[in-house]
Parts: sequence; C-alpha cells; structure tokens
Amino acid sequence: MNKYSNLDRKDRLIQSASEVYDLVVIGGGVTGAGIALDASLNGFKTLLIEKSDFASGTSSRSTKLIHGGLRYLKQLEFGLVKESGLERAIVHKLAPHLVHPEKMLLPIVKKGSFSKLAASFAISIYDFLAKVEDEDKKKNFNKAKTLNLEPLLNPTILKAGVQYSEYRTDDARLTMALINSAVNLGCDAYNYLCVESFNYDSDSDQIKSLNVNDEINNETYTINCKQVVSAAGPWVDQLRRKDGSLTGKRLRPSKGSHIVVPYEKLPLYQSVYFDDFKGRMIFAIPRLGVTYIGTTDENYEGDPDKVFCSVEEASYLLDAANHIFPDISLSHDDIVSSWAGLRPLIHEEGKSPTELSRKDETFISKSGLISIAGGKLTGYRKMAERIVKLLMERAGQENVHQSTEHTELSRDGFLNYTEVIEYRNNLEERLAIFGLNQLDAAHLVQCYGRDSEWIVGKMNELQSSYEDPYELLVISELDYTIEHEMTIHLLDFFNRRTGRLYFKLDDVIKYKTIVSNRLAERLNLSESQMKKQSEELEEAITHCLACKHL
Ligand code: FAD
Repeated sequence: MNKYSNLDRKDRLIQSASEVYDLVVIGGGVTGAGIALDASLNGFKTLLIEKSDFASGTSSRSTKLIHGGLRYLKQLEFGLVKESGLERAIVHKLAPHLVHPEKMLLPIVKKGSFSKLAASFAISIYDFLAKVEDEDKKKNFNKAKTLNLEPLLNPTILKAGVQYSEYRTDDARLTMALINSAVNLGCDAYNYLCVESFNYDSDSDQIKSLNVNDEINNETYTINCKQVVSAAGPWVDQLRRKDGSLTGKRLRPSKGSHIVVPYEKLPLYQSVYFDDFKGRMIFAIPRLGVTYIGTTDENYEGDPDKVFCSVEEASYLLDAANHIFPDISLSHDDIVSSWAGLRPLIHEEGKSPTELSRKDETFISKSGLISIAGGKLTGYRKMAERIVKLLMERAGQENVHQSTEHTELSRDGFLNYTEVIEYRNNLEERLAIFGLNQLDAAHLVQCYGRDSEWIVGKMNELQSSYEDPYELLVISELDYTIEHEMTIHLLDFFNRRTGRLYFKLDDVIKYKTIVSNRLAERLNLSESQMKKQSEELEEAITHCLACKHL
C-alpha cells in the first residue's frame, strides 16, 4: 500500500481500524504534524487525522515567516522571542529549500512604534536572544541609505532604518514536509477524516477509541488508541466540547488577513515591516512575482471554516501601504488574491487581540484528551517536544526523549542554502529546454526540493501530450502530489500543495479544467464528486477576490 497517497485509501482505512495506536493526533496543521513527527521518532505508533486537507486551517493562512516576533519584545515576552528566535536557524537547517533567509527592513518613521534608539536596542536584544551570527546581525542606516535600500519609502516621514535577518517559508508546504517525514518513520496519516466523537473505557473513563467519518467515501470507522492529542487549532474548543471537558480557559480566535498585489505594483527589494498609522505593524513581503501585505488582528466569532479577507480589512491594508509607499497608489483593483486565517489565541480578560499572548497552552481533560492551542508556526518543534515528553511520562516510559533537531524534512536534503541555489540554477537551465523560466524553477525547488527531479522526469514522459509547457508542468506537479502528498481535491492542489490560489490565481482559472479531468481519471472520482469539488474551488476563488469589490 502507498502510505503517501490516497490511491489505496479504503484498504489503508480498513487496516487502521484494526490497529491499536499508541497515539492519535487530531489536526493536520503544523502543530499536529510536528507532534506526529516527534512521536513517531520516539517510537509511538501514531495516527494523524485531519478533517479537511492538511494545513487547510491556520497553517496555510499565516504570514509565512519563521520569525522570533520582534513585536513580542514590546509585550516583554522574552521567553517566547528567545525560543522562536533560536528555532529559526534550526528549521532553516532542516529544510533550507523551504525556509529561506530573508532580509527585513524596519523603517523608522515620525510618530512610529519605534524611535531610532528603541528599534536598534530592541533588535540587538532580538539578535542576542536568537544567537544570530555576526554577518546576519542588524544594521542601522540613516535616512539616505534607507531610501537607497528601498526607494519607494515615504521620504517625508522617514527618519532612518534598521535591517535585520528573518526567514520566509511556505506554511502549508512545511506542514506537508513534516507529515511526509512522520510517514517515513511509520506514522499513518489521513486527510478528509473527521473525528466525530469519543468512546470511553467503562472502568477508567479514559478515551479508548474515536469514531471517525471518511468524507471521501462517507463511511465511518472506529479507531482504537491509548492516548489522544487534539491539535485542532481554532477548533480545539469544539473537540473539548465533544469530550464534555470545555471548562476554564477558552479560545478567543483572532482573524488576520493578507492581500496580494502584482510585484510590479509594489516592487520591493526586501521584506519591509512598517507602521500603519495606528501604532500597529504590518509586513509587505515580495515572493515570486507578487507582493503580499498583512496582517489585520480582529476578534472573530463566525464559522472557522469560512474565513476570508473583508473589503474593510483590504482598505486598511491598502491605506497603510499607500502611507508608507506614497508613489504606488494601490487600490482595490490591484488586488489579485487574498487570504485570512484565525489565530487560536487563549482568552485573557480585558485584553485586545493584539495584546493576547502568542504562547501555546496545554489542557488535559479527565478523560485523557490533551489539547494544545496558541503558539506559532515557528515554534512547532518545541511545542511537539513538550507534548511528546508529556505523553512519554503518561505512558510510564523511562527512555530519554529523542529530539527532532536533526530529522531532515525532505527525502534527499540539501546541506545548506548555497546547495539550494546551485540546484535551482541547474534546474533553471534544464527547464528552459521546455520553455519554462527562472520563476518556475524557484517554485519547484521551494515546493519539492530535490523531488523536483520526479516532476522533471514526468515532464519528459508526458511531453508529447502537451503543447503548452506550463500545462505540462502543472499536470506533472499534480501527478507528483497525488502519488506522494495525498492530493484528492482540486483545492488541495491549487492551494496547499502549490500556493497558486494565493499567488497565481490566473493560472488556477486557466488550468482548472484540465487539472480536474486528470484528478478524476487518476483517483477514479465520480462526476458528482468532481462537481462538488469544482463548486468548492469556485467558492474559494470568489473568497480570494471578495475584498476587491467595494
Ligand atoms: P491549524 O493549522 O488550524 O490546524 C488545526 C487542524 O485541525 C485544521 O486543519 C482542522 O481542519 C483540523 N481539525 C479540526 N477539527 C477536527 C476534527 N474534528 N477532526 C479532524 N481534524 C480536525 N506563526 C508564525 O510563526 N509565523 C507567522 O508569520 C505567522 N503568521 C500568522 C498570521 C496569521 C494571520 C495567523 C492567523 C497566524 C499566524 N501565525 C504565524 C501563527 C500560526 O499560523 C499558527 O500558530 C499555526 O498555523 C497554528 O497551527 P495549528 O496546527 O495549531 O492549527
């Protein structure tokens, strides 16, 4: 059976229902994926269950930075900043093709969040806590030099600038890489499998099994297990309610949105972390042909499955960008896509969403359900470590916890970032033969690392069937993600596996029909299944563009 795909899904599910797992992890976002990897490395027979697609919750909707969180220094969260800061370099080493070094420019402006002195001091602490190497330490610039670095900045409010080092990633791809690494170590993982309810042992009242619904074939199964962790992000309280243990602290989801504009409309030389006009900080991040701007921070009480950027949020982000980059005159018409996500924060009386702590919290119910919420993408490894140590303790295991610090996140990894660049340059030459360009090479390496070879091999095999080189690329990528990354829905492919929904929406519109036909053929999906999938894709496209229309 192929454990990396949904090709043998039914056989795999029947097999899983006959097992007793040491651990079931609910939630295939970055937190659940990190726990599944750590637990599998530490010898737990683990099953990861995701109700929709992997990373379809918050873990495909973040700002996509692996960062220490400079602004948390203002909230005096030194522990959080230190842990995330140190994690950046580790995650970069584990997947250099996926976690890229990124220069961040902080413009110091009149009436801004930071004075020149405060910014320089704060970033020195930031660099110190994260043990940043000398060549990557912050650099202070005067006004003229800052304008040289980023000529679009507003000269009438600019006073100076500080440049420092961060990392940029693709959150959904990082989650998928973690899941595949866990599967390599023996973990079973399913998307589109929803935990409906828990069954309890009549003597101990502890959870002994879970009732799950397979959304693809609409069948139910019972899964036996010894321990259960819920890493369900914004849905954590829903599961605590199913378990009858929703007491005490609760979630207070906060919505954050991003808008995407063509790179030509906001051509930045690096990422910029800038002040809005209300004392909040916003990112503008260039990425393969576009620039994205975010985020907002608002209380959210609606359906966590239907979160999208509103017109008002887009107006706020556009106004803030136009204030700091006055010559670009961005308008709603320039938006080419957008997304929004929910931060699963923990409620604290009297605090606004921006003031709430980003630290993770763990709740243990009487039935043994361990729930983890809060935290950051960047801290996934340390969160997983804490949970797995707890699981080992509860299982009475005395062996020493093995760290994932050296568990690479790709099958055939890169030693360092220089190797990534060499490989990308080489791939670019080979893709040119097909009529593809530098951005296509960068996209492939960022998504699949050296597994891009599989895709190039597929392109050679299918070349005679496709005249349009981009169509050939898309179909070869689709085949890869069906066979190696459990793609089963159009949205899995266009959003979480390839990022096209946010970053190349025109291509989604152009290639959706041929992708749909190929997906149906490869996975033997019925006409009614494909109709439903197409409707879901259309709805997602509408959501991405909803914030354009005033
Ligand atoms: P999720 O990704 O939401 O995963 C939970 C999963 O559980 C979902 O996929 C859901 O479908 C599944 N699930 C729910 N119920 C069930 C059920 N009954 N059965 C099975 N599965 C179920 N962090 C950073 O480090 N850097 C950033 O730049 C950054 N930017 C951010 C920007 C925004 C706007 C937001 C909202 C967050 C940002 N974060 C960032 C934080 C980070 O994205 C989150 O902390 C992280 O993605 C949370 O992951 P998670 O796995 O806990 O939750």
